[in-house]
Amino acid sequence: MNKETLVKVEHISRYYGDHCAVDDLSFSVSRGEVLGFLGPNGAGKSTSMQIICGVLAASDGNVSVAGHDIIDEAKLAKQHIGFLPEQPPLYTDLTVDEYLKYCGRLRKISSNNITSSLANCKERCGLNDAGGRLISNLSKGFQQRVGIAQAIIHSPSVVILDEPTSGLDPIQIVEIRSLISELSEDHSVILSTHILSEVQSSCDRVLIINRGKLVLDESMLSLQGDSKHSCCIVALQKPPLLEELEKTDGVTHIDVIDQYRFRITYLQDICTPAILANTASTADWGLFELIPEHDSLEQTFMRLTLDDLNHVQQSTLSS
Ligand code: ADP
Repeated sequence: MNKETLVKVEHISRYYGDHCAVDDLSFSVSRGEVLGFLGPNGAGKSTSMQIICGVLAASDGNVSVAGHDIIDEAKLAKQHIGFLPEQPPLYTDLTVDEYLKYCGRLRKISSNNITSSLANCKERCGLNDAGGRLISNLSKGFQQRVGIAQAIIHSPSVVILDEPTSGLDPIQIVEIRSLISELSEDHSVILSTHILSEVQSSCDRVLIINRGKLVLDESMLSLQGDSKHSCCIVALQKPPLLEELEKTDGVTHIDVIDQYRFRITYLQDICTPAILANTASTADWGLFELIPEHDSLEQTFMRLTLDDLNHVQQSTLSS
């Protein structure tokens, strides 16, 4: 395994009965990378996270963490993973210190090191003053910090967070996001979420999963600035049927904004705003506005995960 590759996921699938929740998923995570694992509800994110952490067996495929197979060398592999499941595994009738000490023991931290490990993870998660408090009396945001503290108490190389801001209020969300950014200084992070802004604010790379399949694996930089796709808002006084617009070379997707306006996504290598203007003028569609746009993460997400829905909307609008 490449020294810099910490997590390697190879062709994993998971069936629940006949239902395929994860379908032939492969990707890897490098040291120090923050990977956003994005997808609509039900896409297969939690199932994938659980397989990577060795909590759930895959129906097919392999996962290795720091070079150790998650099934064959489970103990070694799991030493390198910290996991915060969607429902934080908290014992709410313990104090923060009691709970974290217990987690440290489960992680086989020696009694010599437990005090410093506890102090370190509390410091990093902003829990210095909360050690003696009962977890049940903490706010949801602080409970989430405790969940993250248990995930990093053994200083794992990889921290996996499943929907870490779900159910938090806006201030708590900002606090947890800044904690995630700090974690990325020392750990590789896999952050599963359905919230686009979370990925935009925290991640180096994004994977989009839809119906169990990987539909995008791209760096945030290339998504923001150097995507293969570009977008234009085009306004036409005499718009043709969508099928006609879709025939333009390089056009990959069209969103109908209103009766006259369309957001057209095209492949930069094949199509340009000038070609679109030329096509509209030759066909006499009455072009009166053409505004180039960057293909934002939101548009990419919609294009890759809502194709079926768009198809229905487009057919309805153009008929
Ligand atoms: P996500 O985390 O992206 O919301 P999940 O991994 O929770 O998606 O679920 C993926 C699919 O698998 C969904 O269709 C869900 O209903 C199904 N699923 C998840 N867990 C189970 C289970 N224990 N038994 C049967 N189906 C499940």
